Amino acid sequence: MKCIEPSYVKKFRCDGKICGARCCRDWRIIVDEDTYDKYSALKNPARDEIFRHTDWVEDEITNVDIMVIKLRKDGVCSFLDESDCLCSLQKKHGEEFLTAICQSFPRVTYQLDENFFEQSMTLTCPLAANLILMSNAPITFTESEKVTARAIIGFKKKITRPVEDFINLQMQAIQILQDRNFSINQRLKNLCEIFAELPPAEFDFKRHCETLTEIFIQTYGVELAQDKKLELLQNYSFNREKILAQVYEKFSNILENYLVNEFFMRCYPCAYSGGDFHNIKIFVTAFRLLEFALVLTAIAKKNVSLEEIIRLIYSVNDMIDHSQGGMEEIIDFAKNCSVENFVRQMLGV
Ligand code: SF4
Repeated sequence: MKCIEPSYVKKFRCDGKICGARCCRDWRIIVDEDTYDKYSALKNPARDEIFRHTDWVEDEITNVDIMVIKLRKDGVCSFLDESDCLCSLQKKHGEEFLTAICQSFPRVTYQLDENFFEQSMTLTCPLAANLILMSNAPITFTESEKVTARAIIGFKKKITRPVEDFINLQMQAIQILQDRNFSINQRLKNLCEIFAELPPAEFDFKRHCETLTEIFIQTYGVELAQDKKLELLQNYSFNREKILAQVYEKFSNILENYLVNEFFMRCYPCAYSGGDFHNIKIFVTAFRLLEFALVLTAIAKKNVSLEEIIRLIYSVNDMIDHSQGGMEEIIDFAKNCSVENFVRQMLGV
């Protein structure tokens, strides 16, 4: 058994006191089958006490009833002891009583085939985000013999090539994203070139700005009158070049780490159905959306600080992972955009 993971995974230490137990709020915490069996095997009154904090709800996708842990009115997990930001269930019964999701978070683990796993971490945890993004040195990867997370996403069916080839392709892509001889923009172009032959095409700045404004509005579900839409578009168009130049001068390593983590953590180029280059279009466009949000934030704050950039990456990630259809607009754009139009709109300088 082999598990490939960025070296930061081993360095992670959860500390709810620092983040205010961020992951114990506003999430749907599913009680998996193994954990349900452990709860059921307890003697009363401990068993009833645990089940008092659970509910059965219908899963919107599968229409199957699933057990979830109740959240309090303020969205906090009903097992969280706010006096020390620790889980009362874990304190009383031990770590094995955590649900698979709670035990695994913020690790994201994929099973690629019988023997191969990939494990990384999501930026949704602020401590993990700091560890991943703040490193000046490029992210490195190691191989380990065991998987620590209990929540594992089966990915066998999504990989359409031998697993070794898939991993080699990912590592080749990551090497390109980490090649500091080139600007981030050039690295994205180089990345696209391993998946498709790019036609020579001029950057269409106007279409780039219009498309991103539309994707931004739709993704965030913002209701804007026509004049406000135009204002947003103009703000981005007028400030993009200057602000992004400043951002790249100061924070290129953070953006590189973000790209590398996204690529590995979401299992590109197989993250979404529809082929390698379709996935790469999604990957690049999602990054352009982050740039768009960065420009708007810098205008609003009159500056881009390290804290702002981390907070923004964190919130864009949160939106992509949690909002209804967070990626729908980007996926639609990628689906309906020819290679040439994609180069014109998303691979400019
Ligand atoms: S996993 Fe991350 S977000 Fe959750 S309590 Fe630990 S440090 Fe906080």
